[in-house]
Amino acid sequence: MNNEQAEKDSFDVIVVGGGPAGSACAALLGRRGLGVLLLEKQKFPRDKICGDAVSGKAMKVLTELGLHEESAKLPHGDICGVIFSSPSGKSAKIDFPSSDPVRKGTGYCCRRELHDNLLFQNAKKYAKTIEGFAVNELVWEGERVVGVKGMNSASGSEEEYRAKVVVGADGVGSVVARKTGRQQKDTKHLCQAFRGYYKNVSGTSNNMEIHFVKSVIPGYFWIFPLDGETANVGIGMITEDVAKKKINLKQAMLEIIENNPMFKERFANAQLIGEIKAWTLPFGSKIPQIYGDGFLLLGDAASLVDPFSGEGQGNAMTSASVAARVIAVAIKQDDVSAKYLFSYQEELLKEIKAELDTSYTLQRLGRVTWILNLIVEKAARNKEVRDTISGMLANQEAKKEFMSPAFYLKLIFS
Ligand SMILES: Cc1cc2nc3c(=O)[nH]c(=O)nc-3n(C[C@H](O)[C@H](O)[C@H](O)COP(=O)(O)OP(=O)(O)OC[C@H]3O[C@@H](n4cnc5c(N)ncnc54)[C@H](O)[C@@H]3O)c2cc1C
Repeated sequence: MNNEQAEKDSFDVIVVGGGPAGSACAALLGRRGLGVLLLEKQKFPRDKICGDAVSGKAMKVLTELGLHEESAKLPHGDICGVIFSSPSGKSAKIDFPSSDPVRKGTGYCCRRELHDNLLFQNAKKYAKTIEGFAVNELVWEGERVVGVKGMNSASGSEEEYRAKVVVGADGVGSVVARKTGRQQKDTKHLCQAFRGYYKNVSGTSNNMEIHFVKSVIPGYFWIFPLDGETANVGIGMITEDVAKKKINLKQAMLEIIENNPMFKERFANAQLIGEIKAWTLPFGSKIPQIYGDGFLLLGDAASLVDPFSGEGQGNAMTSASVAARVIAVAIKQDDVSAKYLFSYQEELLKEIKAELDTSYTLQRLGRVTWILNLIVEKAARNKEVRDTISGMLANQEAKKEFMSPAFYLKLIFS
């Protein structure tokens, strides 16, 4: 074996994809003293189509990475609450309680171009990274994944790297998920979404806005405040519903912006910056097996997006944190078999499954127009209802109340 090949075989872990999941995982593994290779198809800073909202869950892993304060220095919009509007056109503002010492809100919106770059540059301190490297094949020994092959754009040639564990953090179109037969294909659990950046949308505040507009039920239109005068504006709907309704989502979004009485004044002086672009969200309402002999899947590659809010960075980074813990022990014990890596899925689901189940219930309820009208109209009129919902959104245990018929009966008679 020559020196060059020996170097290519000397990694403990190969991480494919340098988004929030891959960059967080590579850094956390490197900090544990493991030899990590992070392979990323694009060159950073790069854009990722997203609503740009960062939740408390993602902030927890940013803290674990030591990036919480640095992330607060990036241009962003603080999030102190959420405004919901119902198909009947009523709206209610729910405040989020905040106890964060660094930030004003419980969450924030920051362009992925900047936020992901912070995470990726941090990963570079702990892992060997190659940008412009598109993985296109896995290397197998029998049933076990032992490495990857791909095109290195710098050398213009195919290269092969080997490691004890391969981590697929390569997003919704994951090569690692596809080649191991783990890709999410069920259109009931995939969501299509469009996003555009708009300048000068009037009436924005430190609140996320989620609007259940009649023409796009089941689905929603959002306006999230970004840095200064810019807003992240988008629309999303389950892929199966898009096909059934034969709806052109981009047209539906432009129709809302230009003609809906709730929004046309607000967008009268707004300018679209760049293009409106689409991407897919793989929902965690159906999670495949996300481990096997010598490999694990994280984030969108593992189909972990919250099926109600569409928030995926939090679970992507949580999966990175859990995977780093499990892989470090697996390598120490010299057991990277599916039998051992099973504990990754088990531990991850312990952390996120209850919330995913509640969110899936909320998503199903969001298909029922009268329920949306009832919740938003009552919240608009009644502070006690708003406070109850605020507490429920902030607390996982309390969130389960959304699944209880008693909650809706109380609403009807409040
Ligand atoms: C329109 C829209 C709005 C959204 N809004 C929000 C929101 O407001 N908040 C939120 O938290 N989430 C939101 N999400 C979800 C969120 O964007 C994802 O859940 C999140 O990006 C998942 O992170 P990840 O690291 O798993 O994957 P990604 O961020 O997709 O990163 C994957 C990385 O892998 C690289 N890659 C891909 N293929 C290869 C390959 N073959 N070889 C090497 N590298 C490869 C890619 O270039 C990319 O850098 C939204 C998604 C969409 C589409």
